[in-house]
Amino acid sequence: MKSKKSKHSYSAETQLIYGRSQTPKWDYSHHLVPPVSSSSTFRMATTKRGAKGFVEFAHHAGEFVVPSKAPIYIYDRLGEPNKDILEENLAVAEQGECAVTFATGMAAVSAVCGVLTGSESEIVAHKMLYGCTYSLFKNWLPRYRVRVRWVDFNDEHALNRAITPHTRLFYFETPVNPTMELIDIRRVAAIAQRHNVHRSPQNKIYTVVDNTFSTPFCQRPIEHGVDFVVESLTKGLCGFGTDMGGVVVGPRWSYDPLLLYRKDFGGVLGSKSAWPILVYGLPSLAVRMRQQMQTAQTVAEFLRHDKSIGSVSYPGLESFPQRSLARSQMQSYDGSFTPGSLMYFAMEGRTPAERKRKADRLVNYIAKNSYTITLAVSLGNIRTLIEHPASMTHSSMTAVEQLKRGIDPGGIRLSIGLEKEEDIIWDLQLALKQL
Ligand SMILES: *Cc1c(COP(=O)(O)O)cnc(C)c1O
Repeated sequence: MKSKKSKHSYSAETQLIYGRSQTPKWDYSHHLVPPVSSSSTFRMATTKRGAKGFVEFAHHAGEFVVPSKAPIYIYDRLGEPNKDILEENLAVAEQGECAVTFATGMAAVSAVCGVLTGSESEIVAHKMLYGCTYSLFKNWLPRYRVRVRWVDFNDEHALNRAITPHTRLFYFETPVNPTMELIDIRRVAAIAQRHNVHRSPQNKIYTVVDNTFSTPFCQRPIEHGVDFVVESLTKGLCGFGTDMGGVVVGPRWSYDPLLLYRKDFGGVLGSKSAWPILVYGLPSLAVRMRQQMQTAQTVAEFLRHDKSIGSVSYPGLESFPQRSLARSQMQSYDGSFTPGSLMYFAMEGRTPAERKRKADRLVNYIAKNSYTITLAVSLGNIRTLIEHPASMTHSSMTAVEQLKRGIDPGGIRLSIGLEKEEDIIWDLQLALKQL
């Protein structure tokens, strides 16, 4: 445990490595990094200590006081040191008041909806979402009488019209997976706040942003006024593609309900997955993202000038339609512009079928021949990954729905890794040449 007496305020980027300088969560004063805390249950010295542990669990009564002494650990599903330290550091990374981790990004998405909605409540969601979130909202939540209304969050009037007395949640991603369209976080938060003036605390509309595409290094939605951030730790935060995880970051009052939800629904992050994210993922986030972004910019510019590609959507391009919004909400901790490591491009072609054919040819050639680009879902990896959303990540939508929601049959998602940019471009060039 680092113990720093200095009052100097260190940058948030440095805090990705150290977290809180002192944590009561684990005594590792002789370790440089926290040890893997792999223990499903914890020894109690007396029944009194056991009883105290249960009384203290998820009982912060709205007061998020970080305890001055070590918490009483009971059982991994309730809490354990690796996850608890990771949660402290993720709250710092997202500049939120508290964080609770889950087994996967989808477990975190389910948890934030589970905690904020009940039967007869309504979610207003942006018309385009990650495929599994879309499927959760379309196929599962309605079974619990949670209704989802789909609107275009860039259409302020449509968003206002979708609100009813039952609305509990605004849910969106920005950049949107996979199209890279942006949504103005401040504007959506302001609409919710305007409606909340007349609502009782139980009827408030909460705003939730899935920040997986950006990672907290490139964008912190809570700073722009939303209540909750959810994200997959599997992607950019883990970074190396070895572990799955998810997190909800939110206001301090949500800490206890989220812990209780996780205890009973059970989607807990394994300590052996929390550890690499804590020790490798988060501390290397800034350096990975900075490098991947620089390469992404060059690759996006290369693709934009290729004749067989119809459009390239990357927030760092001058041609990006929402460039000024990108500049104002996608920023690193020091305020520099951070357009991320992901892009979406669509093949040139007169008909959807022609564009689809070209996308298949390109991606299949890459899958078979490229050294630096791998055909695989997931993103934010140190290896460059390519995929075809229409047939893969977003296949839970019908072709008609895909077109309506902005996914072209010839659309391709590219997630830039740490390879040298000229090598990625070489592999792309070879694939484009054989079209
Ligand atoms: C991958 C992803 C998720 C789900 O995360 P898992 O860890 O795979 O469960 C949610 N949202 C977005 C935007 C994603 O890309």
